[in-house]
Amino acid sequence: MHPGPDDDPSAAGAPPDPAVNEHAGPAARPLGTVGRDHPYRPGNWALWRRPPVLIAFMLGMEVVAVAVLAISFRLSAVPGGRDWINFLILACGATMHIQLTQRQEERRRNRTKKVLIDLTAVWTFSAALILPVPLTLLVVFLIRLQHWFIARRPAHNFIFSSITHGLAGAVAHLTYGALGPHLLGQSGWAGFWQEAGTIAVTGLVYEAIQILYVGGALTLGLSSEPTLRNVLGSPADNLLEAVTIGLGAVTAILLAVVPPMVVVMAVATVVFNRLAELDQLQNDVRTDPKTGILNMRGWSESAERALERTARSGDQLALLMVDLDHFKWINDTYGHPAGDDVLRTVAQTLDEVTRPSDLVGRFGGEEFLILLPDIDEEATWDAAERIRIAIAKLHIVTTDKRGDPATIADRTTSIGVARHPRHGDTLDVLLQSADRAVYLAKENGRDQVCFAPDTPGSTLPGGH
Ligand code: GH3
Ligand code: MG
Ligand code: MG
Repeated sequence: MHPGPDDDPSAAGAPPDPAVNEHAGPAARPLGTVGRDHPYRPGNWALWRRPPVLIAFMLGMEVVAVAVLAISFRLSAVPGGRDWINFLILACGATMHIQLTQRQEERRRNRTKKVLIDLTAVWTFSAALILPVPLTLLVVFLIRLQHWFIARRPAHNFIFSSITHGLAGAVAHLTYGALGPHLLGQSGWAGFWQEAGTIAVTGLVYEAIQILYVGGALTLGLSSEPTLRNVLGSPADNLLEAVTIGLGAVTAILLAVVPPMVVVMAVATVVFNRLAELDQLQNDVRTDPKTGILNMRGWSESAERALERTARSGDQLALLMVDLDHFKWINDTYGHPAGDDVLRTVAQTLDEVTRPSDLVGRFGGEEFLILLPDIDEEATWDAAERIRIAIAKLHIVTTDKRGDPATIADRTTSIGVARHPRHGDTLDVLLQSADRAVYLAKENGRDQVCFAPDTPGSTLPGGH
C-alpha cells in the first residue's frame, strides 16, 4: 500500500490544519499579496507548526532521499534514444490519465478521510522498470507538477511526498537492475516466472519505501490517529495498490514489446480510476457524512441481514434507540457547529463502547440506533446502561456562538430498547417498539433506559 502522502494530513484524521487552505497552491492565492505574513516566506511555513519530532523526521528523511537520489543518478545509465521515446510515451500516458481524471480525483481527494491510493503509480512504477533513473525522476516530476494543482495541500507535505515518489522509483529501478539480467520484451514463456518474481520483489521494495516515509510521517504526527489501519491503509487500499503496481508492470512489458499498446493502458487507468471512485461511492452511500457511522440506508441493510441470521439460528437480538435529551438546547445555547461536535463525539463513543459485531447507525437528527446481535435480556440492560453512562461522562470540547472555546458535559440520554423476538420479528416492528420505549423514557423524566411495553402501544401515554 501506500497512503497518498501529499494528500493526507487531514486524510488520516488529523485535526484541521490552519495552513491547509492558506497553502492551497498558487491558483488559490491572489497575486500581489507577498508581504510579511505571506505563507511562502520560510519563517511562516506551515511546516514549523508541526510537532518537532515530525519536522525532524521529514527533513531528515528528505536529506537521506536526496543523497540516495544523487547516488542512483551516478549509478544509472545515460538515457539513449529508445529511452527518450519510452519516456515520451509514458509521459503522454500519465498526462492523459491525470487530465482525464482530474475532476474525479479532486472529488475523491476531498471526500476521503483515510489514506488515499495514488493511481499514477502505474506510470511511475513502469518508468522505474524500464527507464534510467534521470528519466524515471522526470516522469515523477511531470506527474507531481500536474498533481500540485489538484492536491491543494500544504507545500511541505507535497514536497515530502514528491521526494518519496522519486526515491521509491529510483530505488525500485536499482533493485530491478541488480536482480537482472532481464527478459522484459522477449517473447516466450522461458524465464517467465523468474521475471514475474523479480518484478514482484521490485514492487515490494517500491512499496516498502513509501510505507517507511509516509507511514513514518503519519505515525509521528501527521495523523492524529496513527492506528495500523490509518497508517497502512485498509485491505481494500492495499489491494488497489497491488493492482496499480501490477498495471505498472504490464505497462512496462507493453512498452518493451508493443509500445503503441500503451494507449490502451492509458484508457485502462482512466477506467480503473473510475472503479476506485465507485468503491468509495458505495461506501459513501452507506455512511452518514457528519458522524462517519452508518446512515439509515447502510444500517438497515446490515440490520436486516443480522435479523435474518438471528431468526434462522433462533437467537435473540436487541435494538437500542438512543435519543439525546434536550439536544435543541445545545444548538440554541452554543450554536449548531457545537451541536455537530456533540453528535460526532457521541457517535464515536457509541462505536467505542459497543462490540465490533454490534451495528451503530444514525437514525436522523440526534437519534442513534444500535443493533446488538446474540444478546440476552440482562446483557442488553447492561449494554444500554453502559452507553447511557458513557455519554453522561463525556466532556466535549467545542466552540460557542462567538467562536470561543467551550466544554459541553453532563449530557443525559434516553434509551429505548426492543428485543427480538419478544417485541417483534421484523425490523420495522422492532423500530416502532424501540421508538415507543424512547418516548416512555422521556415521559418518565429522561436520563434512563426503558424497555418497550410487551404489546406495542398498549401502555403508552397518549399523545406520543
Ligand atoms: P428531547 O429531550 O425531547 O429529545 O429534546 P430534544 O431537544 O433533544 O429534541 P427535539 O426533537 O426537540 O430537537 C432535536 C434537535 O436536534 C432539533 C434539531 O435542530 C437538532 N438537530 C437535528 N439534526 C441536527 C444536526 O445534524 N446538527 C445539529 N447541530 N442539530 C441537529
Ligand atoms: Mg429526538
Ligand atoms: Mg432528543
